[in-house]
Amino acid sequence: MDTDLVCWKCGGPIHGLPMPLARLAECRLCHAELHVCRLCEFYDRKVADQCREPVADSVKEKERANFCGYFQPRPHAYMPAGGSQTQAAKAGLHALFGIESKQENDKAINAADRLRRELDQLFGDDRKNNN
Ligand SMILES: [Zn+2]
Repeated sequence: MDTDLVCWKCGGPIHGLPMPLARLAECRLCHAELHVCRLCEFYDRKVADQCREPVADSVKEKERANFCGYFQPRPHAYMPAGGSQTQAAKAGLHALFGIESKQENDKAINAADRLRRELDQLFGDDRKNNN
């Protein structure tokens, strides 16, 4: 099964390509090279050379096809730039409401309530209609 493999660059599915991936295999959607560190099981930004395979020769170009014999494609390798959307949304809420004190926190809750009522008005509130 290779259905969980996605392009490290565009997130598009990688299927129909012969496995193991050829060194010059490329994404059918964005034509990114796929035999690259960014798609590899051993790729890890937190370690030296960004590779957890201790024996592998270091590869400088993490986004170019490499000759590494330890290459293992990793499912769900797509990492959008800028971190997770959830984190960004949370940070946005904190910035919006400036939650720093109890009072501020209450204000934020009131603001959230008001926002919810406005949304209910916008989209209709089934709960009210049913009761
Ligand atoms: Zn792609």
